[in-house]
Amino acid sequence: MNAPTKDAEVVDLRGQFPILQRQIHGKPLVYLDSANTAQKPQAVIDAVSEHYRLHNANVARAVHTLGEESTAAYEAVRGKIAGLINAPDAQQIVYTRGTTEAINLVARSYLRPRLREGDEILVTEMEHHANIVPWQLIAAEVGAKVVAAPVLDDGSLDLARLGEMINERTRLIGVVHVSNVLGTVNPIEQISALARGAGVPVLVDGSQAVPHLAVDVQALGCDFYCFTGHKLYGPTATGALWGRAELLAQMPPFMGGGEMIDRVSFDGTTFAAPPHRFEAGTPNITGMIGLGAAIDWLQQLGVAQLRTHEAELGAYAAAALQAVPGLRMIGSAAGKVPVFSFVIDGAHAHDLAMILDQEGIAVRSGHHCAHPLMQRFGVSATLRASLGVYNTRAEIDLLVAGLERARGMLA
Ligand code: PMP
Repeated sequence: MNAPTKDAEVVDLRGQFPILQRQIHGKPLVYLDSANTAQKPQAVIDAVSEHYRLHNANVARAVHTLGEESTAAYEAVRGKIAGLINAPDAQQIVYTRGTTEAINLVARSYLRPRLREGDEILVTEMEHHANIVPWQLIAAEVGAKVVAAPVLDDGSLDLARLGEMINERTRLIGVVHVSNVLGTVNPIEQISALARGAGVPVLVDGSQAVPHLAVDVQALGCDFYCFTGHKLYGPTATGALWGRAELLAQMPPFMGGGEMIDRVSFDGTTFAAPPHRFEAGTPNITGMIGLGAAIDWLQQLGVAQLRTHEAELGAYAAAALQAVPGLRMIGSAAGKVPVFSFVIDGAHAHDLAMILDQEGIAVRSGHHCAHPLMQRFGVSATLRASLGVYNTRAEIDLLVAGLERARGMLA
């Protein structure tokens, strides 16, 4: 099946998502919280359940048939992830529980040994806490600091200022590819070029990018790229870190345990090569196999056509939301992905979200793990509607009608 372009075509695709058949408070579910976590298609649910039914065994340990099948299925996902983000080699893909673990891994294992008092880690004001707090933790240990490049009023990054902030103390730049609050797509190629000129590595948080954009880490020119699987229609607690081979090779283990060693003795232990060096213990085997199924499913759908559907639906949603009286959109940068954060005069985001839930409409309210960005825009919380492959214009209309009714109730 090809990716949809109109509501009628989405209906067919929606049939692949069992949860979308649910009623919430007697109303059909309108799921507009995909930036938080995306719903899972039957293909992903089947891959997970089939693995448990037919192939379950621990990986990389057993020589029996199930062990070999399980290991082969699990390891094959590295190649799928490499293909998804155009990494040059599957062995540069480290499996993680998601973006959070990936960034902590780079903070602990790559940057911490290199970090000295007075050094700076440069991020942006639009980062998720996952790309702020791990750096603060290691900075505090040595007396380094985390500094942030500003965001402009339309929600785009102040690239000129970011360039000026790179200096001889900068040890790493951590930047989000696509903001989970604003939908802004950051100019990673330009940031990488600026960083390269100064010899500074760049880590990109791709959590919200992989579900919406065709990602090519080689073209982006960054040094580390990470994402989380559950926003990409895959299982929770799955994800990956891509790192340049020469950087991964220099990095010590992150956690110690089984499956990450070469030889262990009480006189000393040697470690496996990347990526296994960073993957101690029994991993989320079925989760990663489910992520592989999600990648296959997305690619079959046709990533380019999906973009067209999302762009059309995003333009429709942006115009429809702007027409809601008293609504202030936060983030209107050109080329943004369909993630809409907004506040409405005289109505708290949580109250609005609760009223919408009564109508079966799921949106997120809160700070979206981006306190500094909330401060930047002078709000404590926003309402966020984020779209996925399965959303329709009819659902946007329901959201707008729901917001207008909720606003009337709260006024
Ligand atoms: N970065 C961004 C931009 C995100 O949207 C999220 C998820 N909200 C994360 C990082 C963290 O992802 P995870 O919790 O799956 O590690």
